[in-house]
Amino acid sequence: FKVPSPINEPVLNYGPGSPEKIALKKAIAEARSKVIEVPMYIGSELIHTDNKIKLSPPHDHQHILGYASEGDASHVHKAIDAALAARENWANLSWEHRASIFLKAADLLAGPYRAKINAATMLGQSKNAYQAEIDSACEFIDFLRFNAHFMQQIYAGQPESVRGLWNRVEYRPLEGFVFALTPFNFTAIAGNLPACVAMMGNVTVWKPAYPQIYSANVIMEVLREAGLPDGVINLIYVDGPVAGDIIFKHPDFAGIHFTGSTKVFQTIWQTIGENISKFKTYPRIVGETGGKDFVVAHESADVKALTTGLVRGAFEYQGQKCSAASRAYIPSNIWPAVKEQLIADLKEIKIGGTEDFSNFVNAVIDERAFDKIAGYIDNAKKSDKITVIAGGNYDKSKGYFIEPTVLLTSDPNYTTMCEEIFGPVLTIYVYEPQDFEKTLELVDATSPYALTGAVFSQDRYAIDLAMKKLVNSAGNFYINDKPTGAVVGQQPFGGARASGTNDKAGSILNLYRWVQPRTIKETF
Ligand code: GLU
Repeated sequence: FKVPSPINEPVLNYGPGSPEKIALKKAIAEARSKVIEVPMYIGSELIHTDNKIKLSPPHDHQHILGYASEGDASHVHKAIDAALAARENWANLSWEHRASIFLKAADLLAGPYRAKINAATMLGQSKNAYQAEIDSACEFIDFLRFNAHFMQQIYAGQPESVRGLWNRVEYRPLEGFVFALTPFNFTAIAGNLPACVAMMGNVTVWKPAYPQIYSANVIMEVLREAGLPDGVINLIYVDGPVAGDIIFKHPDFAGIHFTGSTKVFQTIWQTIGENISKFKTYPRIVGETGGKDFVVAHESADVKALTTGLVRGAFEYQGQKCSAASRAYIPSNIWPAVKEQLIADLKEIKIGGTEDFSNFVNAVIDERAFDKIAGYIDNAKKSDKITVIAGGNYDKSKGYFIEPTVLLTSDPNYTTMCEEIFGPVLTIYVYEPQDFEKTLELVDATSPYALTGAVFSQDRYAIDLAMKKLVNSAGNFYINDKPTGAVVGQQPFGGARASGTNDKAGSILNLYRWVQPRTIKETF
């Protein structure tokens, strides 16, 4: 058998009067008109509890979209038991049946569920239509289709044999269950972390970040409609430490697929280490964590391409991407032109909620994030090392809105040049053009992360130098483009250092982590 060759799902443009825009507006209105009850999904049960988590749009925090049922320790145990009970049948199902389920889910998302999942992402996570389309529709669909294709490639990888014997490798699922701990910022990543693990024949317990529960519920609806058997993916909403305390001590814990903060990932790794003798097998630890992603301009840079890269890289989805451009290095001889163009570009940007499709910047995810980002801005305003070039205002009265903020610093090691803010704040350092090489060294040394980065230049020698000097500074390196928006199957995504295990989401490398190969030698 051969799975259909994957091609990237085309991004719809939601132009005026387009059928996709009409459908999406309708789905948003419908979702806003209801208050839904969101259950946990454990085995064949839809579980409701008395502990309710309020689900509200971050851009309109008084509006209620629904209530999710929060679980406790008993639900974690129940989810693990349900996963383990489903394991044998699922692991023994032929791979093409598993592929069929996820390929059908991709088609459901591309067609009948497209508006619903995008509306859920726009309302629950405050994305604009374009950001939702490239995430919960296209990227998620691409993950599902490409992963089926990668799975087939993995299984086809067989060793040579000489006469008189036959060598084979059987790619088994892991022995136990996998925990998927997923972020709020991409519905596609949240869905893919449990889905790709399950596609490889594993069973999972999935715990999403709370602000993503509203769209996670739609994912579960789609997977169930596509025919995913009960118990393969068990979706729970439980406090992190409560879940961790059970999962990271369980003998059948076989791996974690994580996207989230560096700090949480390090704590998890440590906990797993402390409990290492309790597990039947060494757990796979796969994580994508933080970033402090750079843009370095050479004096030969095209100014308009650079400012477009900065504005889109830093402020799309309010900078809440691990890949967001958050520190930039600009040579002094082009800085006046860059500054003027940047301010002009930012004037074009509209800020506001999901419902008006012309808004570019929406609210940040919750009050905690708002307060943290506002704190960075307040400190910057007080610092004699900082000039505010644009933005700097914020307001949480209706939603958690923060203006796209550009800071200019005289200190390349100022806090906002080094720490991940995860919000719409870009800090710029201006260097002397003859110091390009020294600046590249500074870029490499400034922050512990190594996720994404970009160089803007029309000079091939400068690009070559940047690639060499920054060889370990970014897992995804962009030349004359913003450092965000990796496409599945085209730019495998992930970074090293404090940014993660670099197991490249959207590539075959990631799926290899979810198999337990058995080598067989048969002598004739
Ligand atoms: N894959 C996304 C991108 O390329 C970023 C993922 C993340 O923020 O975790 O922009």
